[in-house]
Amino acid sequence: MKLNFDIVTAERIVYSDEVDVVVAPGMEGQLAILPNHAPLMTMLQPGELMVRKDGEESFMFVSGGFLEMMPNKVTILADTAERADEIDAARAEDAMKRAEQRLQSRPADLDSTRAEVALRRSMTRLKVAERRRRRAQTG
Ligand code: ATP
Repeated sequence: MKLNFDIVTAERIVYSDEVDVVVAPGMEGQLAILPNHAPLMTMLQPGELMVRKDGEESFMFVSGGFLEMMPNKVTILADTAERADEIDAARAEDAMKRAEQRLQSRPADLDSTRAEVALRRSMTRLKVAERRRRRAQTG
């Protein structure tokens, strides 16, 4: 028995497939969803998302959003999301450095929450991009 899984943003469908397990970044930690799960609607925090299909794991970044679970269908509506293979690691590194610099130099107009959130977002993107690289090497 599989689970229909869609992750969508206002702009596009990021991923749509029938999978065995979804592990999403819930507000209180990792949320593992299997087929036949009880209906549920919850918010997600920015983080890493994993789906497993026929023993193969795929990783994605989600910026946060909503997750809706029906018995055989999971839909995530996210502000932004990227599959590991779509993440531009150089861009994420630049974003990370910018956020680090802002937090270190503490300009008068610093929005530290925004800078910290941007830092975490870029670091999570790098982590997700890294997973793809490791998998590619091991086949
Ligand atoms: P940046 O400062 O590099 O724009 P950001 O964290 O501010 O990073 P977001 O606001 O989260 O960017 O995303 C804006 C758009 O750019 C979204 O469509 C997102 O999917 C895409 N995006 C952001 N960073 C990357 C990345 N490193 N690789 C691929 N797509 C990215």
